[in-house]
Formats: sequence, C-alpha cells, structure tokens
Amino acid sequence: MPQKSIQEPAREVPLYGEYEVAVLGGGPAGIAAAATAARAGKRTLLIERYGFLGGMGTAAGVTNFCGLHGNVHGEHHRLVQGIASELLARIDRLDGLNKPHLILGKVFAQAYDTAAYKIAADDLLATHKVDILFHALGAGVVMTDERRIDALMVETKAGRRAVSAGIFIDCSGDGDLAAWAGVPFEVGDEDGHPLYPSMMLRLNGIDPVRAGDAWRTIPQLMEQATAAGTHRFPRKSAIVRPQRSGIEWRVNFTQVAREDGHAINGIEPDDLTRGEIEGRKQALAAFEFLRTVPGFEKSYIVDLPPQLGIRETRRIKGGYQLSGEDVLGCASFDDSIGVNGWPIEAHVPGDVVFTFPPIPESRGYNELPYRMLVPEGIDNLLVAGRCASMTHEGQSAARVSGACFVMGEAAGSAASLALAGNRMPRDIAVEKLQEALRQQGAFIGRGQAVPQGL
Ligand SMILES: Cc1cc2nc3c(=O)[nH]c(=O)nc-3n(C[C@H](O)[C@H](O)[C@H](O)COP(=O)(O)OP(=O)(O)OC[C@H]3O[C@@H](n4cnc5c(N)ncnc54)[C@H](O)[C@@H]3O)c2cc1C
Repeated sequence: MPQKSIQEPAREVPLYGEYEVAVLGGGPAGIAAAATAARAGKRTLLIERYGFLGGMGTAAGVTNFCGLHGNVHGEHHRLVQGIASELLARIDRLDGLNKPHLILGKVFAQAYDTAAYKIAADDLLATHKVDILFHALGAGVVMTDERRIDALMVETKAGRRAVSAGIFIDCSGDGDLAAWAGVPFEVGDEDGHPLYPSMMLRLNGIDPVRAGDAWRTIPQLMEQATAAGTHRFPRKSAIVRPQRSGIEWRVNFTQVAREDGHAINGIEPDDLTRGEIEGRKQALAAFEFLRTVPGFEKSYIVDLPPQLGIRETRRIKGGYQLSGEDVLGCASFDDSIGVNGWPIEAHVPGDVVFTFPPIPESRGYNELPYRMLVPEGIDNLLVAGRCASMTHEGQSAARVSGACFVMGEAAGSAASLALAGNRMPRDIAVEKLQEALRQQGAFIGRGQAVPQGL
C-alpha cells in the first residue's frame, strides 16, 4: 500500500546563530566535544533536546561510568583522562562520585549521582564558554553542496530555527545529523537487530546493613524464584548495586523487546512508545521481586528516568570501523586518539554476555583510531560517541561512557585544528591532533606511559 504523505510548504527560518563548531547532543561525547572545541577558542554551540546534559547517563538513569578504567596486565588504571578528568573532579566536589567498584572481578566501573553529573556538566561547559541551546530538537539539515552541511535545523518552543557552523559534530548517539546529511550507516547485527534497551530504575529506602553485598546474592535469588515459578525475568545478569549513600541502589534489570522478541529499535517512534510502556512494566516487576530481598523490604522506586535506555541505533560508516576483534585483540592504530578498556558487553536475548581480552596476559585495552570519527561523504562533519564508525561487536564495547568521552574530546580538538588550518577534518595532520590531546592530559596509547591510579 502506498504511504500517504503531506507536502510541507517551503518557509523562511530564522537563523539562531552562526558558529565555528556546532555539536548536536549533550551526552558524554557531546560534553567532551563542545568543551574541547570551545577551550581551543572556537565559538561553539551545543544543542540538546532535553534541559540537561549527560545523555543516556542522566536521561536514561545509567548513573554509572564504564570504560574509564582498564585492567593492564592485572593492574587497574584510569585510562580515560583529559576533559573527562575535569568533569569527574567537578562531580566529586559535589560529593557525587562513588569509589570505583570491580565488575566480574576484572575491570572497574564508577557510579555517580545524576544531579551532580548534570550540575558538573553545566559548570564544565560554562567554564569553557560553550553556548548551550537546551530544549531544541535537531530536525534536519540544509545543504547547498552534497558534501557540505550549511545549517542544522532545530525545533524549539519558539518555532524552527537554523544553526550555521563551519564544522558540525554529531554526538546525538543515534547519528541523526549524519543520517540527514546522507552519511551511510548500519543498524544492529547482521540481521539488523540492535542491542536490547533497558529501562533503568533506582530504589531508595534500602537498609544497607541488611542488604550487605546483595549484588552477589540477587542472581541466585532470581534463579530460585524462576525455579519456584514465583517470578519471571526478562534477562539474567541483573545489575543491582548501591549508589553513594548506600540506601539508594541502581537497578539494571530489564530487557525491552518487540512482540517478535527482537530488540526495540530506538529510531522507530512506535517501537519507542511501546518500549517506554513495556520498560516501566518490567521496572515494576523488578521492584516487586527486589522487595523480597533482605534489606529491600521497605524500598521504593525513587526514579524512573525520563526515557528508555537505548544502547545502539545507527552506527555511521567512516574511515575505519572498530571491530570486536580489535577490542579482544587490544588493537593499536597509528592514528589513535585514545583508548577503550571495556570488554564486549553483548545484550543478547535473555542475557548479557561479557567477553574480555585475555587478562592479565594482554594490556587490556584497544586504541581508538581517528578514522572512526570521520564519516564517508561529508566534508565538514565529525561523528563521536556510540554512533561512531564501529561494527555491532565493536560498538558493544566502545559505546560506554569512557570511550565516548575520548571520542568527543578528539572530535572537538580535530574540529578546532581543522578550522585553524582551513582544512577539512579528514585532512588534518593526525600527529598534531595526537600532540594536542596529550597536552590536554589525555592518554592516547602509542607508547605513552599508562596513567597511574584510579
Ligand atoms: C540501560 C543502559 C545502561 C548502560 N549502562 C552503562 C554503564 O553502566 N556505564 C556506561 O559507561 N555506559 C552505560 N551505558 C552506555 C552509555 O550510557 C551510552 O552508550 C553513552 O551515554 C553514549 O554516549 P553518547 O554521548 O554517544 O550518546 P548519548 O548518551 O545517547 O547522548 C546523546 C545525546 O544527544 C541528545 N540527542 C539525540 N538526538 C537529538 C536530536 N535530534 N536533537 C537534540 N538532541 C538530541 C540526547 O538527548 C542525548 O542527550 C548504558 C546504556 C544504557 C541504555
């Protein structure tokens, strides 16, 4: 059946502003990209559809940084430094940062408080003089030349506006800007199925003494409940861990599917609608089970986040696609812009499967090549974060916050170098980018001494 459509009349759109760098999306990649470009003196605007920064880390209630650390031959190091360190220091000053905790006995992650993250990110961007446009949904691009974006169109409460820029950085997580500009992309595995989304939740009112290290016992209690037929769970490998206060725990328990059992597609509005409602149902079921766990009897749901947590949608095609083999083989690249120490974390039907590089035999991290950020076909665009150029397996590792900070910082630096040298981002001298990143305190691998401490 032919799809019905309506023709929208052409209209004049007010110009919101003219920038050197425009960043779409305020998650870890966008925060790092905008702060870095502005710190280098470029007039920079960050556009975000919500009224706060943090991306999935706040909007989807993730409340935990993965990929900041690595297990290097059995020793733990915080590998992601640079602009991420500035953000972490601010969250810490607000008393919003947990001590790092071990995942599966192999690598550290670090929980944080959502409100502190939002405030710290505002402060970081203000310090580096980034202009921010909140409550603005990127909605399309205007191009007079098929290789160059002239303006990003955004929908605001005051109506449609245009943002022009010399270089655009797509940090939307979904590769929206790149897709509108015609950059080729992939979605999901070889059959087009992305990683499953999850509705996160946080519980409060937990008795920390009675709960103890319940994160170890909850998987067994789930198995017992399944065997007894009292509860059914959408997935194994539930993550239920304390936040800083100990009376508040985050719950990563759900797995949201379509009716056919495949993952919700986070760029399909009907899927997203179903996913939000199904996610909340699963969150309630998780809560009802957790209330049976010692220490959780008086707990309550303190937060269901603004949106369903989307792990994977579009991955653009760029100069190089980071692969699962690169992650497991701890690959090195001449054009490294930083590193990823997180394993492959596959959200498969009914479970979450982690695959690590050999630990402690290997150095435990792969380098991330600059070419991942440089899309095919468009000259004044960079793409950073979970929608950068990776295979499905590569993205299952390097989509986490640590690598997204790394990619964002590199994209912001690359944009400023390109503008300073009047070149396209793909033509900048990578050694200059690497030198700039090192000077900013980033660890990019390539024989650089591994940063000490956590
Ligand atoms: C349930 C769940 C649990 C996770 N657990 C962890 C974990 O424990 N640790 C960890 O490090 N990572 C975790 N992740 C992964 C991690 O949170 C994300 O992969 C990471 O946030 C991606 O960063 P990003 O900057 O690329 O994109 P995002 O975080 O997705 O940010 C994109 C931003 O762009 C904005 N945006 C998108 N489209 C538009 C548009 N058209 N116009 C305007 N704004 C737009 C969004 O609102 C958002 O703020 C988890 C993810 C999920 C879903």
